[in-house]
Amino acid sequence: MNLKSKIRSVLDFPIEGIDFKDITTVLKDKEALRETIKQMAEKVSNREVDLVVGMEARGFLLGTPLAYEIGAGFVPVRKPGKLPAETISYEYELEYGTDKLEMHRDAIFKGQRVLIVDDLLATGGTAVATAKMIEELGGDIVGALFFIELDELKGREKLSGYSVESIVQY
Ligand code: 5GP
Repeated sequence: MNLKSKIRSVLDFPIEGIDFKDITTVLKDKEALRETIKQMAEKVSNREVDLVVGMEARGFLLGTPLAYEIGAGFVPVRKPGKLPAETISYEYELEYGTDKLEMHRDAIFKGQRVLIVDDLLATGGTAVATAKMIEELGGDIVGALFFIELDELKGREKLSGYSVESIVQY
């Protein structure tokens, strides 16, 4: 199945000049959804994974079914103020200003093998922030896996040192 053809590009969203990759058209298609999770699982079939860590919000949509498929647990990374128990956080630079992500302090035990999963890799800022928190908790990052990768933004370079994989590239 050609998964790329199922992704909808929306020009000028959320702001002018951005060509947004919309995965809702993949999620609502039963064959495309199944194929996406299958292909993502195949990418990591040679690796032991204890936990999938997914980032708010679309990382949840693909990360949880992937975790179920590969027999791992799932841990959410969220925007500030959303997680109920004690958290750790990481603040990172955006083009204009900063952003912050949080994770439960007890989400990962030392030495657990962790796979980072998100719908899309752009500049890599979100994934690097996530990696920093996982390492602060003592997790062992076995890789970062994305459904979509925007090659031009070179997120892969920011994640050098980790194994980075994606299913569809633009
Ligand atoms: P980065 O931190 O790599 O620059 O941006 C990646 C994050 O922004 C991901 O969490 C992703 O969900 C979101 N994102 C940025 N651009 C797009 C896009 O075009 N489509 C989708 N679905 N998500 C995007």
